[in-house]
Amino acid sequence: MLKRINFILLASALVYGATFNNNINSNVNSDVYSNVNNNYNNVNDNLNTNADSNISTGYTPRISEEQLATAQRAPVYTSCINPGQVAFTFDDGPNPATTSKVLDFLKANNIIGTFFITAQNKERIDSDQINLVNHQPSFDIVKRIVQEGHYIGSHTFYHEDLFLGLENGRMEMNIDTMTDKIYDIIGTKPIFFRPPLGNGGYYFDDEDPINAPKNERVQKYLGASGFKIIMWGADTRDWENKENVEADVMELSKHMDPTKASPTKDSFIILMHDIYDTTADLALPRVYEYVTELGYKVVSLTECLGLTSAYQDNIEPEIINSMEPDDTITNTTIIKSDNDTLQNDIYSSSSSATSTKTFYIEVKLIYSIISLILISFLLF
Ligand SMILES: [Zn+2]
Repeated sequence: MLKRINFILLASALVYGATFNNNINSNVNSDVYSNVNNNYNNVNDNLNTNADSNISTGYTPRISEEQLATAQRAPVYTSCINPGQVAFTFDDGPNPATTSKVLDFLKANNIIGTFFITAQNKERIDSDQINLVNHQPSFDIVKRIVQEGHYIGSHTFYHEDLFLGLENGRMEMNIDTMTDKIYDIIGTKPIFFRPPLGNGGYYFDDEDPINAPKNERVQKYLGASGFKIIMWGADTRDWENKENVEADVMELSKHMDPTKASPTKDSFIILMHDIYDTTADLALPRVYEYVTELGYKVVSLTECLGLTSAYQDNIEPEIINSMEPDDTITNTTIIKSDNDTLQNDIYSSSSSATSTKTFYIEVKLIYSIISLILISFLLF
């Protein structure tokens, strides 16, 4: 009888030991950030292995193939509806350190800008900045953008070339998850969308028959998702020119020089990037000076396009207290924010389970130790 009890207890202890080790291994990898990446990689694997069919990828696009078949292409804009207008747009943020300086300049000069934001730029994945997954200052700067009257547009979740995601569902995933992310932060969905690298924003149907169907698919997906595609009529290439702001002006002058354009008949959507110190400190003031001297008036993108709102269904962003930084957050490297509740099921297991899991493992550890002491007592 005693031997039988010993055997049962020994077997139980071994089983507990085994499950305990598994949990320890998973816990090591389950900080918020890496868990999100793991989930992302899993999705990536799923998508790659199921490249033939979007239905079995693990990600279900918001817009079905049936809806897509009859969808209208999203309209594409590079200029305003009235001559003499210029709209400032900023891509690739938010970057708390530099976006804040851009906001200071816009406020001082009474300008309403539009910020095309990403959640987790794959090219900047090591940076703590430009991170709307678990970085509180990034959330806060998005809130400030909205609070100061500027507009938020989508620049996709991972800043990926949408053409590369056409076969495996990543085009749809990048669009849908960023819409959800923006909705989570400001309580409304944007109308404005800018494709990374511009792919999906062109009409090449005649000159480029290879890319024409790609553009058409992206544009139909965006159209069915309630977006307007905002391209640009004049670029600064500020990301390349950096402190050489006269090179930015040279770029603009390719389209805006008085020999080529006039405020009496032309208008421009201008592209900059709010993630660089050089853009915030040097390029933006110089570009503002340049366009003003040419006689253009800087207007908001809604005024530029004759819209009543920058958000779908005219639902304006909410400035609510629950979006304020959470006082309970003390650890700056692993932050679980209330704002970081991703609706998409790709990330459903990302963050909230971590602390519960750690507690569960601690209980198991204590239980295993007690079991071992009990076994020792019974055996010897
Ligand atoms: Zn970009």
